Amino acid sequence: MILSITKMCPAQRNRFYFRKSNFHFITAHLQVVFLFCLISVDSNCQAKPNQERKNVLVLYENKGHHKAFTDRAVPWLRQLAADSSYELTLLTNTKGINTNFLQQFNLILQLDYVPYGWTDTAKKALKSYLEEGRGSWIGLHHAGLLGAFDGFPMWEWFSFFMGDIQYKNYIADFASGTVINEDNTHQVMKGLPDTFRIAKEEWYIWNRSPRPRVHVLASVDEKTYSPDSKIKMGDHPVIWTNADVKTKNIYIFMGHDPALLDDRNYTHLLQNAIAWSLLKN
Ligand SMILES: [Zn+2]
Repeated sequence: MILSITKMCPAQRNRFYFRKSNFHFITAHLQVVFLFCLISVDSNCQAKPNQERKNVLVLYENKGHHKAFTDRAVPWLRQLAADSSYELTLLTNTKGINTNFLQQFNLILQLDYVPYGWTDTAKKALKSYLEEGRGSWIGLHHAGLLGAFDGFPMWEWFSFFMGDIQYKNYIADFASGTVINEDNTHQVMKGLPDTFRIAKEEWYIWNRSPRPRVHVLASVDEKTYSPDSKIKMGDHPVIWTNADVKTKNIYIFMGHDPALLDDRNYTHLLQNAIAWSLLKN
């Protein structure tokens, strides 16, 4: 039956308009909910931040003289991941690494993990991950140990990626040193002072400065070593990125001493590096 509005009595008309306006309100409300469901990733339509959850692979050494750093850095990273809503996957060797496995990660954090002794499959997978721009990479400290060690040859491609350098020596008894912020316009260095002190490091030296092949973000002033050391390389970059590789990448030399996690400049630097790495271009 089609009911004409003009034939309604005033009371019927009021009820009709009331139901009609309610219907419009409910329809509009449902449209908003529907749109929100489309925007939200969650299938059961609960409010969630409109952002993709990031996956971070942390490759670390759980033995040797970097274990103390790892033991501080891993809980710190877990907390940061919880606060920033990203997932952490932890690995202590490269056996499970292949191209498909790496596909799921937005960032590979080589936390004091050496660049030698990798399986051929893992080497191939990291190379294509970096060259094809599949995510981001951060290397700390031991990732710069480029050479032939423990019966393994130097990974030539990795050495070239790091600026065509080869590890030469280190300050075994440690020294403090002043790091010079060379590019405070770069997001990784933002908020850091122009210079900052690192209380205890080994200050690796390489056969040459990577500067001609990379963009240097910071270097250490070797004149400020305390105690002084004869182990010096002159121009001594300690943080850099290689713009020739499609994947965002950053190497931070400092990463030996667990007390670095109590150094506000250092944790700020790491947080910056991770945030920058996870930011879409
Ligand atoms: Zn070390």
